[in-house]
Amino acid sequence: MSGEARFLTVIPAKAGTQTESFSRKCDLGRRAKVLGLGPRLRGDDNSWNRNTNMSSVEAIRQSLASLDWIAEEKDIEKLSKDYYWFSPLLKQALDDKRADAVVRPRTREELASIVAECAKTKTPITMRGAGTGNYGQSIPLHGGLVIDMSSMNRIVSIERGMATVEAGCKLLDLEAAANAKGFEQRTYPSTFRLATMGGLFGGGFGGVGSINFGPIYAPSNVLSLKVMTVSETPEIIELQGDDCLALAHAYGTNGIIVDLTIALAPKQHWNESYASFSSFDDAMKFGAALAASPGIVKKQCGIFAAGFTKYMLLLKKLIATDQPYAICLIADSGEAAYRALVAAHGGTVNHWASAEEAASRGRYAHEFCWNHTTMHVLRLDSSFTYLQCILTDPVKQAKALHDQLNPRVMMHFEFIRNAEGAVACGGLPVLKFESKEQIEQDIANFESHGAFVMNPHVYEVEEGNSKQIDPKQVAAKRRFDRLGLLNPGKLRGWKM
Ligand SMILES: Cc1cc2nc3c(=O)[nH]c(=O)nc-3n(C[C@H](O)[C@H](O)[C@H](O)COP(=O)(O)OP(=O)(O)OC[C@H]3O[C@@H](n4cnc5c(N)ncnc54)[C@H](O)[C@@H]3O)c2cc1C
Repeated sequence: MSGEARFLTVIPAKAGTQTESFSRKCDLGRRAKVLGLGPRLRGDDNSWNRNTNMSSVEAIRQSLASLDWIAEEKDIEKLSKDYYWFSPLLKQALDDKRADAVVRPRTREELASIVAECAKTKTPITMRGAGTGNYGQSIPLHGGLVIDMSSMNRIVSIERGMATVEAGCKLLDLEAAANAKGFEQRTYPSTFRLATMGGLFGGGFGGVGSINFGPIYAPSNVLSLKVMTVSETPEIIELQGDDCLALAHAYGTNGIIVDLTIALAPKQHWNESYASFSSFDDAMKFGAALAASPGIVKKQCGIFAAGFTKYMLLLKKLIATDQPYAICLIADSGEAAYRALVAAHGGTVNHWASAEEAASRGRYAHEFCWNHTTMHVLRLDSSFTYLQCILTDPVKQAKALHDQLNPRVMMHFEFIRNAEGAVACGGLPVLKFESKEQIEQDIANFESHGAFVMNPHVYEVEEGNSKQIDPKQVAAKRRFDRLGLLNPGKLRGWKM
């Protein structure tokens, strides 16, 4: 990663005075030249109403009075926010941002009527599932309407290993319905109790199950999407296969997802296990061996450095040690081989229980993995924050990072397959927040060991990912949101 690219990982200037926005535009223009982007990639229209105010939104509300509008100010504030506060930098940048109104469509027809009014009045629209995103993805930068999709939550069909659901369908409800038919989701985040399918595709990655199936946007995990265009006469357009991917992780900037068809996996009987190891390196080697082992049926393997246990209040007794540990989900058939693999890496299985037993405790093991780990730490000590990264050579890179940064940075990695199928790790290391400069230095430290950092302290689509503009995302915006009303300010490729 070049020094220049690293220095682009800054919080975008707050939209505020004209001078600020203008100087940012000039800066973005310069970056466009550096990236060799011509006018073809630029947004066609940025004519959304920068003066959206209560009266224009009130006019929409009056013309659609029978819809489910959120009345209470405190609820509008709540539904304007997500888990951006995991980052002290995002907290500072986004605390004062909120929607002018929130509406909850119940049907496609209601959704279309809202979209048409917004198009007529050029009112910004921010889509929302459950609002569990971490990067201010569903926080409107410029007011306007938040469209909360939680009432468009139907499960349309589950058959032949595929499910079609409305975008606001909760993953928890989908899992229960799929289980009843002998299937389960291929991957879901640790926030599965609240998160929606539209929100996972629009803003998430995956999580439990990604050790087998990669991210939700790996080919053939999502089979088709229906997208509503933003115009005075909204249309629904169906996308198939790889064409869907332009809307993945685009923060709802380039299309309104109405429903999705996803591929499912056959249901397994799962067991949760905690194993401890005498060194972090041994734990990582165990994780790599488990991830690569084709015969052991597993769904989750998170590796945690020493120091995390005291923050995992409900698990402390079960983890039973302050040494490095692994949290795994293993099918019945894999138990013997799993135990042998732990032993071969000098580890101890401290706990093994069926998923039903876990459910009776009220929390699953995977609710202590992924970004839930960060949340449990933050709950006890709000001076912490985190980073996100991908390791492509997990054992080697994790050792180098641990040797250099432990204990100031507490290492936490989740084994996954990447979109091409190779074993990799998603990293969610936790660290004390000192300053923006310290975060930038730690990003540089991770990058110096070859980690690909997805900066969780910025709110632009590109800045939090590859830092490159994705022409497919911009082309989708031109196709589905020509007026530029969706989540304005988040897609750099359109702003230029
Ligand atoms: C404690 C914690 C743990 C987490 N663990 C994980 C994890 O394991 N894996 C992971 O991937 N993420 C994780 N996340 C992030 C987040 O929970 C997931 O990505 C989740 O899937 C988001 O779903 P949501 O319904 O809450 O989406 P929201 O936060 O509501 O939306 C996410 C983005 O999608 C857009 N969007 C929502 N609906 C639509 C739609 N219909 N059309 C177009 N765009 C839409 C929104 O505008 C927003 O930009 C975690 C977050 C927290 C706080």
